Amino acid sequence: MATVTTAGRYDGQPDDADVIVVGAGPAGATTAYHLARAGLSVLVCEKSRFPREKVCGDGLTPRAVRALIAMGIDTSERAGSAGGPAGHPGWVRNKGLRVYGAGRVLHLDWPELASYPSYGLVRTRLDFDDLLARRAAEVGAKLVEECAVDGPVLDRAGRVVGVTAMLGSDREPVSYRAPLVVAADGVSGRLALALGLARRTDRPMGVAVRRYYRSPRHVDDYLESWLELRDGGTLLPGYGWIFGMGDGTCNVGLGVLNSSAAFQHTNYRELLTRWMGSTPAEWEFVEENATGPIRGAGLPMAFNRTPHYTRGMLLVGDSGGMVNPFNGEGIAYAMEGGQLAAEHIAQALARPAGSGRERALHDYAGQLRTTYGGYYRLGKTFVDLIGHPAVLSFCTRHGMPRPVLMRFVLKLLANLTDPRGGDAMDRVINALTKIAPAV
Ligand SMILES: Cc1cc2nc3c(=O)[nH]c(=O)nc-3n(C[C@H](O)[C@H](O)[C@H](O)COP(=O)(O)OP(=O)(O)OC[C@H]3O[C@@H](n4cnc5c(N)ncnc54)[C@H](O)[C@@H]3O)c2cc1C
Repeated sequence: MATVTTAGRYDGQPDDADVIVVGAGPAGATTAYHLARAGLSVLVCEKSRFPREKVCGDGLTPRAVRALIAMGIDTSERAGSAGGPAGHPGWVRNKGLRVYGAGRVLHLDWPELASYPSYGLVRTRLDFDDLLARRAAEVGAKLVEECAVDGPVLDRAGRVVGVTAMLGSDREPVSYRAPLVVAADGVSGRLALALGLARRTDRPMGVAVRRYYRSPRHVDDYLESWLELRDGGTLLPGYGWIFGMGDGTCNVGLGVLNSSAAFQHTNYRELLTRWMGSTPAEWEFVEENATGPIRGAGLPMAFNRTPHYTRGMLLVGDSGGMVNPFNGEGIAYAMEGGQLAAEHIAQALARPAGSGRERALHDYAGQLRTTYGGYYRLGKTFVDLIGHPAVLSFCTRHGMPRPVLMRFVLKLLANLTDPRGGDAMDRVINALTKIAPAV
């Protein structure tokens, strides 16, 4: 992708853009797309160069598909490999979740809803993030690759008015200026940290690792989820997934939550290798078939960094801890957060600088709480409970033989309900999330 570097240095000159977005992952690219569509000038600083790898399971639920459609991205099977590199399968569709647990297997199709499509997708992040960033650039966002932001530029009042960065392979120091900055720089939250916004320890956190293996299981129309991981007779900590990539490989991984005694006392790479060693030989998850190393990263959940707006800077995606604590899904929430941030920024920048503009920006944080706060509160309780192996084992043993109950669990865990006119399950879940005090 062509690098666009139209921004100037910050030396008291006029603004380089209406908004600077730091990071062009799903959060940054989606924010930039919606800002550009609203007619604002957007400068996106991305430290890497696309296409680039990102550690992920590569699984997209119908929630993420809806966010893609809102960006005008064609996810139809017809679109297939058109958006991907030659020989790449493009979008790989799935119709639901295959769940392993308590010695049983269940196939749970995505629900039929008015608000969401009834299919999910799989696509490597190598390809997916490139596609999203290109989409943002297509509608006018200026993408500056190899631009590693190292901190905010503050005015005398301590308000963020730009960023400093290292540009290109020779790391030329630059600074860019804009009235608003969006921190979409991922789990490290470096920009937020520079403003003193540390991670909240009262919110859940996970760690997940993944690896690609060549496998005959690479074609699969279900996302596969493992509630229990075993090595022979030994129950291992964590939950696993096997997602067929449709290109000859599977993305295989596992996650451990910080409510588990094993969190940070476990060699996650060894754990994955042990689990793989216990899978059927015909799946071929063996060392010789691994196409790369095991890689891992943190999963910041349930708004584990707040506030989402302060002093000219908005947090979106992992930088604002937006991962769903029920299922570890982060892409959909990064994208929805991006759209919400863009809508609030557009309203704010249409007002003169001052209290009216600030009200619109603070409302971004308020709207996030209203939309996800109750659900994330339930998710936090869920994480606390399933951290106890006895509780998880009880739920798995009693849930798995009851498909109707498991369909309810799928809706709850994937956050897939209709807000209006849904079925009885939707009404129960919606009522629970309304009753729960927002995190
Ligand atoms: C092992 C694992 C498996 C997962 N599986 C799934 C899954 O299957 N489905 C799902 O929905 N979610 C999954 N997640 C979560 C998901 O990956 C994240 O929630 C999602 O990537 C968040 O998007 P983001 O844009 O906020 O951050 P990121 O995707 O991390 O993007 C941040 C971007 O900012 C850039 N950046 C960082 N620092 C700077 C800087 N200083 N200057 C400029 N640019 C910078 C980075 O290069 C990157 O491009 C998984 C996570 C892990 C760790």
